[in-house]
Amino acid sequence: MHNSTILFATGNQHKVDEVKTIIGETYQFKTLKDINWTTEIIEDGTTFHQNAFIKASTLYTAGNPLVLSEDSGIEVTALDHAPGIYSARYASMHGSDLDNTTLLLHNLEGVANRHARFIAVICLIENGEVKFFKGEWYGKIADAAYGEGGFGYDPIFIPEGYTQTTAELGDTVKRKESHRSKSFMQFKTYWEGRDQG
Ligand code: IMP
Repeated sequence: MHNSTILFATGNQHKVDEVKTIIGETYQFKTLKDINWTTEIIEDGTTFHQNAFIKASTLYTAGNPLVLSEDSGIEVTALDHAPGIYSARYASMHGSDLDNTTLLLHNLEGVANRHARFIAVICLIENGEVKFFKGEWYGKIADAAYGEGGFGYDPIFIPEGYTQTTAELGDTVKRKESHRSKSFMQFKTYWEGRDQG
């Protein structure tokens, strides 16, 4: 079963590639593109868990027996945990990464408490059985954007134990320590462990 093809509820091939570098190239995923899925899935939950479940269960109900989804974002303590589940659309519905990071820096101008964390929640549905895996990555928001690597909030997030942003630190650090890495390593442990059970 380890080699089953899993439907990854994302249209973002970049995300799939990043995940494979974390859990291994032997994992086979297909994406929404591969199944010609064009219907927009409305993520109207109020938590990462709910939104991950909405994505996975919509596809499961549509006839896909093995589905995995991931919902992620960043929470900033001084902003009452915003942008949270709205991370991708913080500045506006179709705002760019630059719009989002610019707004976040603006909202933190003069604020001393820069604590933040990335969160990733995975929902796996296999033949009706639902499992969640969660990863967090603690750090702080920089005073400005630095670095060219990564995506999203990477240019303004400095992980605990470092002095540079994740955009400057690059893929190796992210692959080992990020919220996505932690959640997918939990998934991997579960997935490979259950083969032996
Ligand atoms: P999702 O793809 O709907 O889960 O949206 C997650 C959003 O959170 C992304 O658009 C990014 O803005 C942000 N985000 C999640 N993970 C990361 C990361 O590893 N680096 C930077 N931004 C991230």
